[in-house]
Amino acid sequence: MNSVNPYLALAIPAVSSLRPYQPGKPVAELERHYGVTDAIKLASNENPRGPSDAVQKAVSSALNELTRYPDGAAFELRAALARYHGLSANQFTLGNGSNELLVLLAEAFLGPGNNAVYDQYSFIVYRLAVQACGAQARVVPALPADHDGQPLGHDLDGLLEHVDEHTRLVFIANPNNPTGTWVDDEALHDFLRALPAHVLTVLDEAYCDYAQAEGAADAIAWLKDFPNLVVVRTFSKAFGLAALRVGYSVSAPGIAELLNRVRQPFNVNSLAQTAAVAALADREWVQDSVRHNQVCRQQLCDGLRSLGYPCVPSRANFLLVNFGTAEHAANCNEFLLRTGVIVRPVANYGLGCYLRITVGTEAEIERLLHALQAWQQASA
Ligand SMILES: *Cc1c(COP(=O)(O)O)cnc(C)c1O
Repeated sequence: MNSVNPYLALAIPAVSSLRPYQPGKPVAELERHYGVTDAIKLASNENPRGPSDAVQKAVSSALNELTRYPDGAAFELRAALARYHGLSANQFTLGNGSNELLVLLAEAFLGPGNNAVYDQYSFIVYRLAVQACGAQARVVPALPADHDGQPLGHDLDGLLEHVDEHTRLVFIANPNNPTGTWVDDEALHDFLRALPAHVLTVLDEAYCDYAQAEGAADAIAWLKDFPNLVVVRTFSKAFGLAALRVGYSVSAPGIAELLNRVRQPFNVNSLAQTAAVAALADREWVQDSVRHNQVCRQQLCDGLRSLGYPCVPSRANFLLVNFGTAEHAANCNEFLLRTGVIVRPVANYGLGCYLRITVGTEAEIERLLHALQAWQQASA
């Protein structure tokens, strides 16, 4: 019997071999642990400006209705999404964060005997969702670190080669987390065309608002050509609503209908539904945030480069920063924590030499760069 957890042997094998997701450290935890105050968090890719005033007001007014269950069908939000994307409401499935959609897709389509394909450096939730269903994971090597254009990015040909008759899902994040890299529209389109009909592509577009500002296509427009495409989006990043947990998938109605069979009836709470409707009505706020991110990401990238830390090219609101060695990255992370700056170690992704840093406000970037300078002086 395992002395750490006596129940381990009772769990199903798919669960006993799982490693839990490690989220970015919360500010309050860091402050408790290290005794620092005014810590900043650049670890989970939230919008540093948060939601707009209009969204905050809408949430406040919804506080009067905490007694009632939320609308399990999320009528208003699905209608708002249908208008926003010019599609019909029966193509949308809502989740408790887009994370839940990834899990629902796995529950609906994966099990022992079939498999899912994803990239070596893709979002860890894919691995967790696939493993928990007892399906096989076919993990595809990423592009090499010295690739010109998309170092550590997705190899679409490699993903396609790993698809077989037992494959049900291919997960692609575009832009990708934790690398920030992206796949070109044309290459992605070719990939979708080449994929057999028995395989669904789960296109995770958590950062698409940032990428579209730099010319990326809106993949939702491709749904009419590819009935086996599922696009997953979130209100947690550019829309600034990470705390409320709301995301959605857009798909053929038949796929949405299956996801609804496994979805819990009240998975998205009332405040989240209200906030998301208000956020969709406030496009200008999101676009402003995206422009702000472009400017600040450049500021961050330049600052890091001048300190000798190169970044992987990014179309998202974070940078994957190369610290040379795993030891250097880990020590630097520890130093930053002690000064109250939380960034994201990515050794659990197999990227020990790197740290992932969210683009914060100008002031937060300054604070990070100063802390890095102090680290260089301290370790010289
Ligand atoms: C942040 C993130 C998500 C999940 O966000 P939710 O808060 O669960 O909506 C999904 N995919 C990727 C690639 C992400 O980085």
